[in-house]
Amino acid sequence: MNALISRRNFLQAGTALAGGLTLANGATSAIDSPAARPFRFVHLTDIHVQPELDAERGFRQCIAHVNELRPRPDFVITGGDLVMDSLRVDKSRIEKIWKLYDDCCRDFEMPVFNTIGNHDIVGWDDGSPVTPDDMDYGKKLFADRAGKGKTYTSFDHGGWHFVLLDSIGQKPGSRNYVPLLDDEQIAWLKSDLEAVGKAKPIIFVTHVPFYTAYLTMALGPNTLPGEKSMVSNAYQLRKDLLKYNLRLVLQGHVHVRERIDYGKISYIQSGAVSGNWWKGPTLGEHPEGYSIIDVAADEFRHSFADFGWKATRV
Ligand SMILES: [Zn+2]
Repeated sequence: MNALISRRNFLQAGTALAGGLTLANGATSAIDSPAARPFRFVHLTDIHVQPELDAERGFRQCIAHVNELRPRPDFVITGGDLVMDSLRVDKSRIEKIWKLYDDCCRDFEMPVFNTIGNHDIVGWDDGSPVTPDDMDYGKKLFADRAGKGKTYTSFDHGGWHFVLLDSIGQKPGSRNYVPLLDDEQIAWLKSDLEAVGKAKPIIFVTHVPFYTAYLTMALGPNTLPGEKSMVSNAYQLRKDLLKYNLRLVLQGHVHVRERIDYGKISYIQSGAVSGNWWKGPTLGEHPEGYSIIDVAADEFRHSFADFGWKATRV
């Protein structure tokens, strides 16, 4: 009950600020547009939908849970690894799982913005039967079916700027992936943020985390993250990003619930819709779920949502 009261107060505060009131410290709200209003969105990552393990029923149960939220989310952002999987299977399997994803997403009662994950890329695995000369090889299928022609993009909503990143780079000389933002995307990102300016609050969405402590938590203090668990050039970007009002980085890929607040930026890993790939909670302690983000004026509130799924076969 306290949480509900506190959330109502939070939303009312946002309404007052959006109306142009001056803050207690004399500053004015960063959001001065009359259109700015409190809003909610959700972040669903690592869905890994597949015909096996009752995953379709699980994903549809998650979608129904999102549709029933009040206040209703304005939109859904997915965090990548939408299907299981495109990396190392043949094209009939790829068509089957993407059709399944499309069919399930028709249940959402609000717009969906998709972020790319490693499992959404066709053939980037030495063992894949889909070779580089195939027209669907690489990221084209994601861009065509889920990305409105792109693998990274940005948009504005309610006075905030959202950037959906493509955190999957190709390892030089191989068909494998390595987590990074490539040079072309970094050049785009710099010009995109330049146009946004230093005041507007910004949210990044990246499949592979910029930062995570999950391996240290799970395996002990001497375990460092592997090369595939964090974006390799996020560190080089960090100082550049500090001059902007980047507030939140939504992350996926490692299937755990985790929040790191470092300086003014929060790095939130939203667990996984699939939990441990539809076999139960990840590491026994991170249940199937997603993140709810409530935004009012230039502040956000985050909570983890559990949609009540129980794995049918473990
Ligand atoms: Zn992943």
